Amino acid sequence: MDYIGGMTSSSGPFRCDVAIAGGGPVGLTLALALGRRGYAVVVADGAKAGDVSRPDTRAYFISHGCWRIFRALGIEDQLLAEAEPVTQVEAEGRIGGISFIAEECSEPALGFMVNAGVLNAALARAVNAEAKVKLLAGATFTQTTLGGASAVLKLGDTEISAPLVVGCDGRNSLVRRAANIRFEGHDYDAAAISTTVKLGRPHNGVARQVFLPNGPMAVLPLKDACANLIWTEKAAVARALADLAPEDFELELAKRAGAFLPDAKLVGPRIVFPIGLYIAERFDAERVALAGDAAHVIHPLAGQGLNLGLKDVAALVDVIDEAARAGLDIGAASALSPYTTWRRGDVVATAAAMEGFARTFTSALPVRLAAGAAMAIAGMVPPARRLFAREAGGDLGELPSLMAR
Ligand SMILES: Cc1cc2nc3c(=O)[nH]c(=O)nc-3n(C[C@H](O)[C@H](O)[C@H](O)COP(=O)(O)OP(=O)(O)OC[C@H]3O[C@@H](n4cnc5c(N)ncnc54)[C@H](O)[C@@H]3O)c2cc1C
Repeated sequence: MDYIGGMTSSSGPFRCDVAIAGGGPVGLTLALALGRRGYAVVVADGAKAGDVSRPDTRAYFISHGCWRIFRALGIEDQLLAEAEPVTQVEAEGRIGGISFIAEECSEPALGFMVNAGVLNAALARAVNAEAKVKLLAGATFTQTTLGGASAVLKLGDTEISAPLVVGCDGRNSLVRRAANIRFEGHDYDAAAISTTVKLGRPHNGVARQVFLPNGPMAVLPLKDACANLIWTEKAAVARALADLAPEDFELELAKRAGAFLPDAKLVGPRIVFPIGLYIAERFDAERVALAGDAAHVIHPLAGQGLNLGLKDVAALVDVIDEAARAGLDIGAASALSPYTTWRRGDVVATAAAMEGFARTFTSALPVRLAAGAAMAIAGMVPPARRLFAREAGGDLGELPSLMAR
């Protein structure tokens, strides 16, 4: 393919091999991975470079399987300086729980916790240093045209055209709508408060989750005896809690969390995130692929949403490479269809597991008791624990080349 690797303009309109709509963690990782393999890429994101006016309170659990993508892309060392290894996961129901440790998947850590701001900054630095990739910040796209030999992303008075556009533009994806791909699912009547707390006792690398009657609460280890708190509540309650004065929030937290989270002090802003479960009916079409939240949104319990997006990236890079090696048009539906086949099953299975946990543990007491008992029994069976550990570590299923061990 004669256009592979060659970008035609430095100020627009742009013509490249792959146009990426959205420069969140998924879009930037994809851009970097494709750039490293020699494809000319333009990424457009509406956020302005270095905008710190809306800090992201999330910290991501990245499984060790997905972490290998960052290792392969050469940004692991920068991330490690600020990341906290997760060596154990504990989930508690009302009468029992399950706990598994890194050794059960033969790794020093199940994964790492990294602040969203740290990850996005490291990715943006690497993308800006990659000659094959152009990152357009503060660039809102308003229209996507598909069909013919190119997809075109309209950005104000300029545009990006490429044989393939990848929608990495989050849950309200414009690219997905332009491709007429249905996004099926539902919102939960719940929302997650995300913030940082200083812990009253050392976390020892343990990620902990407790299933309270209104939803799960997760405490995920960060540097300096801090933790990322994800507290799920009915949506209206979550908004009210987020608006409380810090000391009143701490009192409510102590009331609800009790011994699970003693003496925690609020040390960061609070943001409330809506929670839903949505999956695109397919992840590709003629001239389009979807990755990350544009393709699927799941409950944040167990911290798997971005991990799924990173696995999309790794699989898509292999699918594009395979098509290019065979001399095919990388945006043709026939070249892209293995991507949906590869990824959608994993996403559906993970989403179903999250849905099961979320529904079961907010059900009537007898159901919660039965589920707690089942979890406790599973926790006593070493093969079941190993399976949970490998699933949480992102090492199940067919692994793409960026995730190879
Ligand atoms: C509280 C909480 C905690 C979570 N914790 C974890 C965790 O521990 N581990 C994990 O794996 N996942 C976690 N997740 C899920 C994770 O946050 C998402 O899966 C991830 O952010 C998706 O990344 P993305 O790049 O696909 O989308 P986004 O992060 O939504 O990025 C989309 C980008 O597209 C841009 N964009 C959209 N439309 C336009 C437009 N028209 N023009 C220009 N730019 C546009 C936006 O500016 C944005 O930068 C959590 C989610 C929540 C809510």
